[in-house]
Amino acid sequence: MPDTTTFNDLLRHLVGFDTTSHKSNLGLIHFVRDYLNQYGVPSTLIENGNKDKANLFASIGPDTLTGGVVLSGHTDVVPVVDQIWSSDPFTLTRLGDKLFGRGTCDMKGFIALVLAAVPEMATAPLKYPIHIALTHDEETTFEGVANLLPELVAMRLSPQAVIIGEPTEMRLVNAHKGQGHLETVVRGVEGHASLPDRGVNAIGYATRLIAGLAEIGESAKQRTSAVPGLDPAFTTVNVGRIEGGAQFNIIPGRCRFEWEYRSIPDATSRSIVDEFDEFSTMLAKEMAARNEKAGILTRALLEVPAMTPQPDSPAERLVTQLYDCGDPIGIAFGTEAPCYQQAEMPVVVFGPGSIEQAHQPDEFVRIEQLQRCTEFLRNLIQHLTHT
Ligand SMILES: [Zn+2]
Repeated sequence: MPDTTTFNDLLRHLVGFDTTSHKSNLGLIHFVRDYLNQYGVPSTLIENGNKDKANLFASIGPDTLTGGVVLSGHTDVVPVVDQIWSSDPFTLTRLGDKLFGRGTCDMKGFIALVLAAVPEMATAPLKYPIHIALTHDEETTFEGVANLLPELVAMRLSPQAVIIGEPTEMRLVNAHKGQGHLETVVRGVEGHASLPDRGVNAIGYATRLIAGLAEIGESAKQRTSAVPGLDPAFTTVNVGRIEGGAQFNIIPGRCRFEWEYRSIPDATSRSIVDEFDEFSTMLAKEMAARNEKAGILTRALLEVPAMTPQPDSPAERLVTQLYDCGDPIGIAFGTEAPCYQQAEMPVVVFGPGSIEQAHQPDEFVRIEQLQRCTEFLRNLIQHLTHT
């Protein structure tokens, strides 16, 4: 069982590195690399384009790429700006059965548990390997996992299970919604407000587009997912920001809005973006007929696919065999899991802590949750030693 002093020390260090997504995570990554080195475990670092962030990949046990597990966690955390904390967010603070600090729950607690178990992993006569994968920019662009996966595919890594230790309160998660963040820019033609037909009103067309999105969102409510745990169980749409126009007596030449969708895992229904594109193309034609300079441009700022349930996958079987985690459920938040699914690696989301505390001021993880995860990791090491 991982030593509690070691675990506390590790988590204290991990929380102490301010790895807010827009900052470098290299301090943390080098700390982990040096720690693993002490146990004879070499790390591969995969740097980003700017070389100010890195993923870390390390393998323990037999030198085989088939079977075994990948224990995966993201090293970045969400910002603490504009949040009121009762204690310093980057200083691990214990109060009763809770450990407070940014990332304790999402998801440095899990990473510290895995690292604390490394001495045991390194000495156990493992028959299958345990890989550790740490990524950057999970909270923002998914750039880390996007850089990591081609490397894993190139080395022909074929694990029995990838376990992403996001906070699920140690429930087995096999599905979640996809998410898209988009920007639509409506380009109109400015003019004097007294002569509306001489210009093209960008705000007017933007409101029609937004009304169209609302209708698309209404009809999406009819298509519900059977996956338990998705709340709500249908695809949602939200327009969250709008700007445009100069003043009341000028026909606005530009209007821009940002919107998002969260889509249920369902390959059969048409995507929200396709429906929007069809409507947008129709309106753009109408605008171009009035003035060829007018038009609509939509681009995705971020798109993350849904995690599709793969009932009875090797990953699900492994976790349910080793831990009493109940029937698999879906969750409302996104993870790196669909990226592993695209690389055809069986994956589940399964880790300590509750998403209710993630991203919040006074983020914490309960010690009881950490103990449960420790128990799972112990079972996992034994299993990979004795199968
Ligand atoms: Zn997370």
